Amino acid sequence: MKDTPKVVAVTGASSGIGEATARRLAAEGHRVFLGARRTDRLAALTREITAAGGAAAYRRLDVTDAADVRDFVSAARDRYGRVDAVVNNAGVMPLSPLDALKTAEWDRMIDVNVRGVLHGIAAALPLMRAQGGGHFVNIASVGAYEVSPTAAVYCATKYAVRALSEGLRQESAGDIRVTVVSPGVTESELADGIADPAAREAMKSYRAVALPASAVADAIAYALSQPPEVDVNEIVVRPAASAQ
Ligand code: NDP
Repeated sequence: MKDTPKVVAVTGASSGIGEATARRLAAEGHRVFLGARRTDRLAALTREITAAGGAAAYRRLDVTDAADVRDFVSAARDRYGRVDAVVNNAGVMPLSPLDALKTAEWDRMIDVNVRGVLHGIAAALPLMRAQGGGHFVNIASVGAYEVSPTAAVYCATKYAVRALSEGLRQESAGDIRVTVVSPGVTESELADGIADPAAREAMKSYRAVALPASAVADAIAYALSQPPEVDVNEIVVRPAASAQ
């Protein structure tokens, strides 16, 4: 292990990037505290990590509920004594054209992708200030840099994640580090939530070239492994063969 082990709370750890991040950080010796709604998945992952000699625990988490996120972060602190980093990773992507007026899906993206990140910040920031330091790793997307049809609301949420992260960074210089990791297409369950038939079909070819989730986990681990005086602010990681 290269750096001092940390306590890292990961939201959305039941699949895809969050799951790969939990594995990767635990393998490096960090203590991971995992949250998502599918606790069967979290329990299996926790068993796998501890069986391999790592330190992991989990708690059911719905990031749309501010009190639940507060309890999640408190539970991580109670378990391990501190919280060095929060990976605000939980996200949903039910794409559709605006004309389809899937307003409930718009709300869900805003609730999970934007409010969820804000809830993570609100839960952990006071704790990190009191500890004298901490690190937020917020997962945005290449959709935080450019917009495409059917992705207007999703991209808006990811632009918001970048804006919030930059504001937090500016207000926190000195003790809190802030990293935005923006993946391109990555193997995960994210596209399974697309109900709109045309958007779903279009995604099949778009998502044909994808990174393994472990590649994004590597980027997160890199940012977390930097010495205290180094703040890695943005990482964009795409499949080499991808033009988007
Ligand atoms: P997955 O669908 O595989 O994982 C999403 C995770 O978010 C799951 O663990 C899910 O857990 C969790 N989640 C969803 N809603 C909630 C909620 N209300 N409360 C708590 N957890 C929730 O997709 P990815 O791994 O790809 O997504 C991770 C992040 O990466 C997202 O922010 C996504 O936008 C971003 N991203 C992904 C890209 C890709 O191509 N895969 C590209 C760019 C960005 P559960 O359902 O058990 O609650």
